[in-house]
Amino acid sequence: GDQKDRREMASTRTHVVCMPSPAQGHINAMLKFAKVLHSKGFFITFVNSEFNHNRVLKSKGPSALDGLPDFRFATIPDGLPPSDLDKNQSGPVLCTSMKKTCSAPFTKLLTALDDPSSGVPPVACVISDFICSFTLDATTAMAIPNIYFCSFSACGFMGVFYYKDLMERGIIPLKSEEDLRNGYLDTAIDWIPGMPKLRLKDLTSFLRTANQEDLMLNFFTGEGQASLQATAIIFNTFHELEAPVIEALSSMLPPIYDIGPLHLLPQHIPNGSFSPIGGVDLWRGDSSCMKWLDEKEPGSVLYVNFGSLIEITNEQFIEFAWGLANSGCEFLWVIRYDLVKGSAAVLPKEFCAETNGRRFITSWCVQEEVLSHAAIGGFLTHCGWNSTLESISAGVPMICWPFFADQQTNCKYVCSEWGIGVEIDADVKREEVAMLIKEVMEGEKGKKMKRKVLEWKEKAVEAAKPGGTSWKNLEMVIDKEIMKKK
Ligand code: UDP
Repeated sequence: GDQKDRREMASTRTHVVCMPSPAQGHINAMLKFAKVLHSKGFFITFVNSEFNHNRVLKSKGPSALDGLPDFRFATIPDGLPPSDLDKNQSGPVLCTSMKKTCSAPFTKLLTALDDPSSGVPPVACVISDFICSFTLDATTAMAIPNIYFCSFSACGFMGVFYYKDLMERGIIPLKSEEDLRNGYLDTAIDWIPGMPKLRLKDLTSFLRTANQEDLMLNFFTGEGQASLQATAIIFNTFHELEAPVIEALSSMLPPIYDIGPLHLLPQHIPNGSFSPIGGVDLWRGDSSCMKWLDEKEPGSVLYVNFGSLIEITNEQFIEFAWGLANSGCEFLWVIRYDLVKGSAAVLPKEFCAETNGRRFITSWCVQEEVLSHAAIGGFLTHCGWNSTLESISAGVPMICWPFFADQQTNCKYVCSEWGIGVEIDADVKREEVAMLIKEVMEGEKGKKMKRKVLEWKEKAVEAAKPGGTSWKNLEMVIDKEIMKKK
């Protein structure tokens, strides 16, 4: 009975195991891809860390991760001791722990899924986040494809891939902490293929350290090189947006496939837009902001959100608050309860009086829906890659305050290469915030950026349509890589 059912299932469904890195942006992007594969008929196992699994259940309810018979959730431990489910885990500690400890539990999980008694089709392929190289042991042992999924932009990934080269040239790590302040980060870097002339500080930010033992620098350098062992690499971007970098990467890496923006694909797949599987949100969302937006004039509201990870100081928080207040603009501000380092965010009374009637504050929203709302005229963002792509796809110009990781590189491209954003200085001041908001929401520069971002949106839509570059690459990665016979 069971054996026969399984054989029948196996003959019709190809089983793909998806292993995102355990951070919200990485999980969201991987989940979008997993849903695309599922709507194309694949059998999916989506793996979360135990910590995140429990956190989702806590924020969204006990049935949030029940899944479907052919779209299942599984877990592996991340190697860290249990900790407070309401707080993000430390990135460096988590990355290091997973690299050290996750190979064995992941191998155990794959072996269990692959066992004929498991009741699921044998595992055909693993889709692994580009910073989860611990998956390579298992896929090598089982001789199945391990297809990397890059949740950074292609330009951000290039920075990471070049850490090794920068080390060999003696450029990084920095000579001393002083180099963070004396202009050293302005050093011109003009030899990375496909990248325009950049400054050291435009590259993925983990290089900003003088510590030879820095956890993130060493982790990302290693993971960048490990990508050479992948069967293929998928990027959530589209060809026209990053053509020179994508073409340069193509000659350095295993086959690469740009198939983004992923969230524009499902509408072209039969039943693709219908997904009974929810999100994997680590925070509880709030939809009441949509009703508030419904009352607003088109293009009149600034959306402010710094993503899922960054922690800012109270001083920075207060500068943003007064910048928003002094801009005179209407705004929707998402303030995660852990946004401000060390303390709960407290807005000054005067700020509340000043912005009465023109603000909506919440702690988490469904960002894609918000960005697509006609009332949104601009996005004050930290330039996380998902946020950047979602903003482009919604045709919303950006005010950028990059914080770390690939955000500085994304910001550089948004402002200088694509012409769809302006940058706020790292040392944020209320006057500059207010000035840039007015410029983007009301000024001539804002109008120009709006026209430009609508052109990019059009190109994104074209790429994701049947016959478009991303669409064709999706079909190709399925035929040539995922379905590749052993
Ligand atoms: N997001 C959301 N609601 C929020 C904030 C963020 O749905 O209130 C989603 C957003 O749409 C994006 C992801 O969380 O898909 C954040 O990823 P990104 O790469 O932009 O930044 P990160 O959180 O990794 O810094």
